[in-house]
Amino acid sequence: MTPRGWAVLTLAGLAVALLVAGALLVPWHRPPAPRADQLAALRDLPVDQVAHSREFRAALRPAGWAGLALGLLVAVALGLTPLGSRLVELAGRPFGGNWIAQAVLGGLAVVLVADLLTLPLAAWRQTLLTRYGLSTQGWAGWTADLLKSYAVSAVIGALALLGFYTVTRLAPRWWWAFGAAGAAGLVVLLSFVLPVLVEPVFNRFTPMEQGPLRTELMGMAARDGVPVRDVLVADASRRTRAVNAYVSGLGPTRRVVVYDTLLREATPAEVTSVVAHELGHAKDRDVWTGTLTGALGAALAVVVLYLLGSAGPLLRLAGVDSIAEPRAFPLLIALVTVAGLVTAPVQALVSRRVEVRADAHALALTGDPATFEAMQRRLAGVNLADPDPPRWEYLYSASHPSTVERMAAARAYAREAGR
Ligand SMILES: [Zn+2]
Repeated sequence: MTPRGWAVLTLAGLAVALLVAGALLVPWHRPPAPRADQLAALRDLPVDQVAHSREFRAALRPAGWAGLALGLLVAVALGLTPLGSRLVELAGRPFGGNWIAQAVLGGLAVVLVADLLTLPLAAWRQTLLTRYGLSTQGWAGWTADLLKSYAVSAVIGALALLGFYTVTRLAPRWWWAFGAAGAAGLVVLLSFVLPVLVEPVFNRFTPMEQGPLRTELMGMAARDGVPVRDVLVADASRRTRAVNAYVSGLGPTRRVVVYDTLLREATPAEVTSVVAHELGHAKDRDVWTGTLTGALGAALAVVVLYLLGSAGPLLRLAGVDSIAEPRAFPLLIALVTVAGLVTAPVQALVSRRVEVRADAHALALTGDPATFEAMQRRLAGVNLADPDPPRWEYLYSASHPSTVERMAAARAYAREAGR
């Protein structure tokens, strides 16, 4: 069998593995609370708060969609015309067109140009966050964050680019196989190291101070059978007034993180409710699920790129001879960008299902639906979330159930429990 034949076979195997993992690991069968309950929840929210949040979201919307459109436009302009390949050549020229210079500097130049072209929209968004009082960051802090994220992306990107184009040179017929394994390995590695290597670049993390709340949270984790070494507090207030919490990392790097803003804004019982949700993610191994599906998806993407990359018309548009050369990197980015936009609703749906399960865990663990609902109201109020966002926007991009869905779920739980 030819490498191409093996690639088709591998693609089929990866697709089946991804579907099986998705079918088994994603909690699909959790119907949302009845719409009537959701509408009742919406009516219970303060009218002016809902109006204010909707005004903010409406103001933010053009910047968001324009950002997606411009990102697509730039990726297509660089990847499906010879512009991008010329940019890669240009970046390698001071080094006599050396392939390493082309691969690393050329690749980074393409990403940087795309980032810089969409920068005005990111700045527009920041202006709105400031106007509505969500951001606590001046332009200096915003710029510092931006430069830090460029630096982090450049380091990870340079390693990935160097690794990838070394493999395409060493194994011109089988690079897709090594590339797929490498991409999957990189996803797993990043899940382990991001919390310890990257998150501290942007925030300071300190163990939650000793006291009744910490004792309560650690006790709850022990009761839940989820070993948690510590609850960390992130100094999110340097950037935002928004409240949040999350789990990240795997095995030895796993941590539950709460924003300092959450501790400031919410009651201890509400913080407990939020942490109970995060324990649900830990208990159900949601980070593992995300890492596994991400790794399979990344491997699949490499094989698809290899197969698509032998299509003559695409190569001609990009002005390159092969998808495996550094000059074709902008074409790769264009294909990945399109794939990202197309699969966004699926990723959002999977995320919402996982979040619904974590909510159910929080309700069962705390047995306190009233506080859960109060916390959801507070989250929506402080974060200026539309409690019942437009359907199309929800389906395309919502990573969490809406506020009214979560409130209604708490009410459904209370009814069940009171039976
Ligand atoms: Zn969650």
